[in-house]
Amino acid sequence: MSHRVFNFSAGPAMLPTEVLEASAKGLLDYQGKGFGIAECSHRGKEFDGVVDEAIAKTKSLLGIGDEHDVLFMQGGATMLFSVIAMNLLHTSADYLVSGEWSKKAAGAVKDLGLKANVVATSEATNFDRAPLPSEWKLDPNADYFHVCSNETVHGHRLVEWPTSASKNLIVDASSEFMSRPHPVKDCALVYAGAQKNLGPSGVVLVVVRKDVYPKLKKTGIKLFDFKALAENKSMINTPATFGIYVLLENLRWIERHGGLVGMEKRNAEKAKLLYDAIDNSGGYYSPFVAVKEQRSHMNVNYRLPSEEKTEAFIKEAAKNGMVALKGYRTVGGIRASIYNAMPVEGCQALAQFMGDFAKKNG
Ligand SMILES: *Cc1c(COP(=O)(O)O)cnc(C)c1O
Repeated sequence: MSHRVFNFSAGPAMLPTEVLEASAKGLLDYQGKGFGIAECSHRGKEFDGVVDEAIAKTKSLLGIGDEHDVLFMQGGATMLFSVIAMNLLHTSADYLVSGEWSKKAAGAVKDLGLKANVVATSEATNFDRAPLPSEWKLDPNADYFHVCSNETVHGHRLVEWPTSASKNLIVDASSEFMSRPHPVKDCALVYAGAQKNLGPSGVVLVVVRKDVYPKLKKTGIKLFDFKALAENKSMINTPATFGIYVLLENLRWIERHGGLVGMEKRNAEKAKLLYDAIDNSGGYYSPFVAVKEQRSHMNVNYRLPSEEKTEAFIKEAAKNGMVALKGYRTVGGIRASIYNAMPVEGCQALAQFMGDFAKKNG
């Protein structure tokens, strides 16, 4: 394996080395057959086995059973913003607008000429937090309630998924899916673009509760029909076969490393290293997120005293083998994305670097 740096990219993001090695092997020669997994029919037994195992592992990791279907879609989480509304929005749906991504999700509904009721928004304070449940103005007749559980750009998360707020909760979990145990069994639909925490781009993992099928609207597009996709094991047409294979290798890796409980423990330890470095810097590093308990365990955002110092920080970190730390363009500062694949050592190295840099440049 060639030299690898600590890559803090927000997405597409780093993957575990073991996953990449197994995937590279399967790309060249799948199980000694003389062809790779990206070079065979999606209708053949090799890929069929991949899909079956990916569905089974997704279900076992999430602790769900026959009430839910697991789908592998394309078009990114962004396409799901529209497809969900096209399928499930009859009258109006509730949207919590807590950041860039949930704002886009609600915007996609409006673009379709449908009604998104914004139950609360923190836009006035530049999405420095998610509005608290006590601030939400939910409509009891809404078709569903949509939230983004981890706002990737701003670096905050919902401490708990609000399953008690709606029996038809829909969660965009793109930047935290499988990073901790999730109450998926109490959700109508959960979706995640793979490229943050699960695999390469090109695959969206969707978990849908079957009791929504009788309520589905006719979209007129078979590829957007959750029920038809489930009935065809997501193979109405050619799925993103190699992406699904890498995703499967990642699910195997998660399983080997203690499942979602193991991920949660490791991610909490990693996040604490960085938040401690912020909190113990005497104000040199200022956290972006205003509500401490909402601090994301996946995307850690903070600012330095000036633009010049921020630039110098990014440059010097790269020289020390820590890359992709620049914050999102609308937010600025530093964003360290530390998904499942980031080893504890990467966070230790960054925390150490933060301390040293502050001392030298204070
Ligand atoms: C990255 C991201 C998206 C968009 O994903 P695409 O696959 O690029 O469409 C949506 N929601 C969240 C929370 C994200 O982090």
